[in-house]
Amino acid sequence: MRVVVDLNRCQSYGQCVFAAPEVFRFRGAESLEYDHEPDPGFDRAVGRAALACPAQAITLGRSAVAAGEAR
Ligand code: SF4
Repeated sequence: MRVVVDLNRCQSYGQCVFAAPEVFRFRGAESLEYDHEPDPGFDRAVGRAALACPAQAITLGRSAVAAGEAR
């Protein structure tokens, strides 16, 4: 699954970090880091993170591999 966070919308609430700490993390006090193409085993946790985000800043899509874009 492909993950995109609109960092202009992100308010550093941290709900995504609680929902999927393997994928989302803070670097410093408010700087969010995340895996853009996390392991498929985290898909459910990533989905929960997207639903939990109060700012609706997380967009999910098909991974490049699943979409046949990888070469
Ligand atoms: S839950 Fe949303 S607003 Fe909060 S840190 Fe994650 S992406 Fe940002």
